Amino acid sequence: MHNSASAQKMISRKLHSERANRRPVTASLEGKSFERFIEELSSSFVRAPVDEIGDEIDRWIREIVLGLDLDRGALAQIDAKSGNLVVRHSWSRDQLVKLPIGLGFTQSAPWFNSTLMSGRTVAFSKVSELPPEFFESDWKTYRRYVPKSNVTVAVRIGGEVVGALGFGTVKKERTWSPRLIHRLELVGEIFGNALERRLATEEIILLRNELSHMSRTTVMGELTASLTHQLNQPIGAILMNAEEMQKMLESGQPDLESLRAVVGDIIQDDLRATETIKGLRSFFRKSEVEKTPLYLRDVVAEVMRIVRGDALFRNVSLAFEAPPSRGRVAGDRIQLQQAILNLVLNAFDAVSEKDGLREVSISIGVDKDEAKIAVRDSGNGVDPAMIAHIFEPFFTTKSKGMGMGLAIVRSIIKAHGGQVSARRNPDRGSTFEITLPALQEKI
Ligand code: ADP
Repeated sequence: MHNSASAQKMISRKLHSERANRRPVTASLEGKSFERFIEELSSSFVRAPVDEIGDEIDRWIREIVLGLDLDRGALAQIDAKSGNLVVRHSWSRDQLVKLPIGLGFTQSAPWFNSTLMSGRTVAFSKVSELPPEFFESDWKTYRRYVPKSNVTVAVRIGGEVVGALGFGTVKKERTWSPRLIHRLELVGEIFGNALERRLATEEIILLRNELSHMSRTTVMGELTASLTHQLNQPIGAILMNAEEMQKMLESGQPDLESLRAVVGDIIQDDLRATETIKGLRSFFRKSEVEKTPLYLRDVVAEVMRIVRGDALFRNVSLAFEAPPSRGRVAGDRIQLQQAILNLVLNAFDAVSEKDGLREVSISIGVDKDEAKIAVRDSGNGVDPAMIAHIFEPFFTTKSKGMGMGLAIVRSIIKAHGGQVSARRNPDRGSTFEITLPALQEKI
């Protein structure tokens, strides 16, 4: 039987199907290729099926250790029961100096524990830089693991510290530039997003609730962390250069050669930002539509199975009217399911917003050329003034909305040569309708 959890897996498997040949990491945390490094890191996490996030974390800890010429790295997570920071992932060049999986910090390293739990980064080039409290409480355990230089950054989910990610040397000392520390903090942020996705999915398995909204939000979170960083940099540089130009112009006798150089920089930074956006587009485009003939009824039946638990949980009566004819369309089963699922989850939200009837129905209509799937709800009805905007990315009227659901529906349906529309029903609620070209059946 399919349930939310297995459907979630199917959806993520699909997203990662082209990942079979995992590419080696080509960029590094130091130097110019950092942008690419972050891109590779976030996209591997985004693409990893939830049950492979752990392997991906191990792989990236190893990559970072080797890339920075360090000796070891580890990720500790807060244990839900004890509240203790416990090492969950660990990699080192030499087994002798590996931080053991399961090592808890509360007893063995209380200073480290409380500093990291407060969200602060701990960085030292020499052990002697650490404060006296460290030597009073932590040194005994720490000495066993012979640190020379180390950086440990907080790993957060939604602003809350949930773990710590550390890297260090045991053979020789080294210094950590503020830039590298900042970069590792960003890496910690991306790890946090990946953990969030894993956690969210574990919760889904328990609750069988709202699968798509959650995974979508967290995937977007991972992308946003990387994108924000990549765009902030050139945008900041453009502003600085523009201000510089303003100063030069105001000086009365601007040096044309310098002005030309500054304009050149602005153009370069602008191109870089454009490339980043293009890269993101192609990232999404990679999940190409593989079309196979599908019975629409089976596609909707599958979605019904996925959301039945949610409907019960949210006290929504859910109906499905399938026509006798078994209309077929050419499509990607998972993507079409995702599109219908998004409409159904929105319908659930709409009927949950007000008291009274909580009814959602899905119907299919097929004629010679067209197949239609309509999702109708008894909610407040989409505001006519907003209909023009609801399919735009990031448009939302919900306090916790992402505004990506309908944008994803539209892009999937467009890729299938179809259309999606919304209307307010004459009595109550709204109807969202997908129209797809029907496959001509040979008789
Ligand atoms: P989100 O659900 O995160 O807000 P969507 O793109 O799925 O993002 O939806 C965008 C907006 O469209 C919603 O915030 C809501 O205002 C409106 N909307 C979508 N579905 C419905 C519906 N069934 N009834 C009323 N309004 C809807």
